Amino acid sequence: MKLHEYQAKDLLKKYDTHVSRGIAAFSPEEAEKAFRELGCPHAVLKAQILAGGRGKAGGIKKINSPEESRISAEKLLGSRLVTAQTTPEGEEVHAVLIQEALDIKREIYISFLVDRRKETPLLVGCPEGGVEIEEVARRSPEQIFRESFDVLFGLHPFQARRTASALGLDGPLTREAAGLIRNLSRAFIGKDLSLLEINPLAVCRDGSLSIVDAKADLDDNAVFRHPEVATGERPPEESLEGKASAYGLSYVGLEGDIGCLVNGAGLAMATMDIIRHHGGQPANFLDVGGDASTEKVTQAFRILFEDTRLKAILVNIFGGIVKCDMIAESIISALRDMKLKVPLVIRLEGTNAHIAREMLAKSGLKIVFAEGMEEAAKKVLEATRQIPIEAGGGHTP
Ligand code: GDP
Ligand code: MG
Repeated sequence: MKLHEYQAKDLLKKYDTHVSRGIAAFSPEEAEKAFRELGCPHAVLKAQILAGGRGKAGGIKKINSPEESRISAEKLLGSRLVTAQTTPEGEEVHAVLIQEALDIKREIYISFLVDRRKETPLLVGCPEGGVEIEEVARRSPEQIFRESFDVLFGLHPFQARRTASALGLDGPLTREAAGLIRNLSRAFIGKDLSLLEINPLAVCRDGSLSIVDAKADLDDNAVFRHPEVATGERPPEESLEGKASAYGLSYVGLEGDIGCLVNGAGLAMATMDIIRHHGGQPANFLDVGGDASTEKVTQAFRILFEDTRLKAILVNIFGGIVKCDMIAESIISALRDMKLKVPLVIRLEGTNAHIAREMLAKSGLKIVFAEGMEEAAKKVLEATRQIPIEAGGGHTP
C-alpha cells in the first residue's frame, strides 16, 4: 500500500526524524488556511499523488502568500498530473501539502528497500540526490552506496556513520545524519515497509538536515498490523484501486475502454488476452475473487461505473465454489440502484448457470448473453461500437 507523501511524513515524525514542517489540505480554502498556520514567509505547495517526478511536471509550486496558496491549490486539486512515473493519463490530485520552503544547499538521496536475493533490508544512498537521481545513477553509478543490514539486529551505529560519511557529510552533521539514518531504518522495519525513499534529504544553508520528500510503501501483507497507518487520514476520494482493495477486490486500471468483471486471477488474465486477441482494449482487471459475495459484486459495479471511459462491460464468471445464481442475484440487485449506461455482456458458466441465465433474462435488464469466451469477447467488442444506452436505461420499462 503506497502512502502519500504527507502520510509517509506523519509516520516518520513518530521516529524522531527531521521532517520539514507541512500541513495537508484537501480544498483551496484549507490550503489558504494551512499557509497562515505555517506562519512562514515562503512555502511550497506539493501535489499529493502516489508517484514521483512531480517537480519536473509542475506538481511543486512556490507560494508566498495565503492567496497564492489558494490559487495554486485550486489549479492542482482535481486536475490530473502526468509525470515520468505515472501512466499517460496521469493521476488525479486529491490533496496538496503546504510545506515550509527551505534554503537548500545540497540534496542527498537515501532509500531503504528489501534485497530479495540477499534476503535482507538494504540501505541505498547517493550524495547527489534530487530530481536528477536516475540520471546520476546512470552517469556515475560509483556514487551509489549500499549497506545491507540484519532485519533483527537493525542498522548498526557504525553502519549509519559509514553511510553518513559516504554521503559526504562531515563534522557535527555526521553524528546528526547517522542518528537520522538509524531512525529511518527503525521506521522501515517497525512499519513493515517495502520501500522508504527520502529524496531529497536536504542540507540547508543554516547547517540543518531536513526531509523534503518521502515516499513509503507498506507491505500489503502487513497492513493489518498497522491500523494506525491504514486508517490514517485519507483523501476524501480515493483511487479506484484503493476503493477496490477496501472491499477485497483486486483492481488494476488499464488504458482501454472495456470494463471486465471476472472471478479469479487466471480467468481475469485469460479474459484480457481474448479481448486483446480480438482487437479490443480492456479498461481494467477487476477480480471479485473465488469468494465473490453480493456486496463484492455490487461494489465491483460501483467501481466500474465510476470509470467514464467505459464503452461496454463484460462479466465473465465461472461458477465453481461461487454459484452463478448468487452472482445473477447480485448483478440484479446492484443494477436496481445503479444506472447502466453502457452495454453489458455476460458469460456465466458452471454451477447453476442455467438458473442464473433465467433470472437475468427475466430481470428486464438489457443484457447481451454470450456462450464461451470467444463469443463473449466478440460480443463485447461489438457492443463498444454501439450508441450508448440512454441515461436511466438500466431496466427496460
Ligand atoms: P518530486 O519531484 O516528486 O520528487 O518532489 P520533491 O518533493 O522531491 O521536490 C522536487 C524538487 O523541488 C526537490 O528536489 C527540490 O529541488 C525542490 N524543492 C522542494 N521543496 C523545496 C524547498 O523547500 N526549497 C527549495 N529550495 N527547493 C525545494
Ligand atoms: Mg523527490
